[in-house]
Amino acid sequence: MRDVSKFLSGFRRFQQNYLGKQHELFDQLVQQGQRPRALVIACCDSRCDPALLTDCDPGDMFVVRNVANLVPPHVQATYFAATTSAIAFAVHNLEVEHIIVMGHAQCGGIRALMEHKAPTCNEEELIAKWLGIAEDARQQVLRKLKDKPMPMLTHACEQSAILVSLENLMSYPWISSRVHQGKLALHGWYFDMQSGELYEYQPESGAFEVLVDKPVTCQM
Ligand SMILES: [Zn+2]
Repeated sequence: MRDVSKFLSGFRRFQQNYLGKQHELFDQLVQQGQRPRALVIACCDSRCDPALLTDCDPGDMFVVRNVANLVPPHVQATYFAATTSAIAFAVHNLEVEHIIVMGHAQCGGIRALMEHKAPTCNEEELIAKWLGIAEDARQQVLRKLKDKPMPMLTHACEQSAILVSLENLMSYPWISSRVHQGKLALHGWYFDMQSGELYEYQPESGAFEVLVDKPVTCQM
């Protein structure tokens, strides 16, 4: 088994940084409870920690992570309750003002969806069942980009799957009503880890456009 000492020394640094320097912030969060303004739905991928990517403080964002950052549709809400109950808690109890679905480049989950291999064991079956939430995204990509190479298909599906999740969010009456009342805003973000840029889906253009481009000093 690999050594976990890196995690323990990291926790010591966290203690120094947050329980020492920012003691006031953490004290407040402990005494008054959390009140994050945003729910972020991100992938489990170890390179895509939303709090790390956005340099957030504790208490800033409520995060749900799952394979390929998917949101099940309302009709499947009880079937995939781990994700949907967390969304319900963020919207109903915490009354977040933003929901950000954050996809990313090189997503292993989306690659598996596009490769569409028949499961050969229980583990693969579980993953395939979950990824089936984004089947519409796969179908759309296959229709639009027929015969294109796999990396292009995967890239397109990473972004299409974000749109499917945004659509699925709107299938929940308690989300769509808040969106229509202007109490809640939905965002589709895409982290391109190769270019180091952050994109956002723009409904007006129907495309993902650069939200934060890479800094001039960034050597990538
Ligand atoms: Zn991923």
